[in-house]
Amino acid sequence: MTESKHIQHNTQGRIGQGFDLHRLVPEKRLLLGGVLIESSPRGSDAHSDGDVLLHALIDAVLGALGQGDIGDHFPPSDAQWKDADSLLLLQQVLDQILKPSGYCLVNIDTTVFLETPKLTPYKLGIREKLASTLQLPLDAVSFKAKTMEGLGPIGHGEAIAASVTVLLSPV
Ligand code: MG
Repeated sequence: MTESKHIQHNTQGRIGQGFDLHRLVPEKRLLLGGVLIESSPRGSDAHSDGDVLLHALIDAVLGALGQGDIGDHFPPSDAQWKDADSLLLLQQVLDQILKPSGYCLVNIDTTVFLETPKLTPYKLGIREKLASTLQLPLDAVSFKAKTMEGLGPIGHGEAIAASVTVLLSPV
């Protein structure tokens, strides 16, 4: 069976999930959902701005539409994505891939895995930023933060990760 270029429409939703992880380094700033985490002494080591939350979100949207992954659309080998603002990458996916698909976002559920600092002071700001970017009501945007109880590379403060699930429905 050949894969159709066009998305098979149905009356039910389409679900997508995305995951991303970056190494943390002292010389970088930490961005999550486009929000600067000022209290973090380290940031993501990445070709782009290293926003793991936005990268996982982009992968979740692409996944829901069966449209590959972030690396297919914004290859790290391409110099134009160096230090790229991930909000602009997300906007491009929303405008050029989600909008023409005939689907829209219903809600998103996100989790960031980070040992320190505590993200509680940033939670509302991140949800507001995502909600306005995605044009969703605030209660359709969930943000959760987890530590790894001191275990593994994330628990040792060497890495940050994010997991995002999205639900799409026909427009
Ligand atoms: Mg990434």
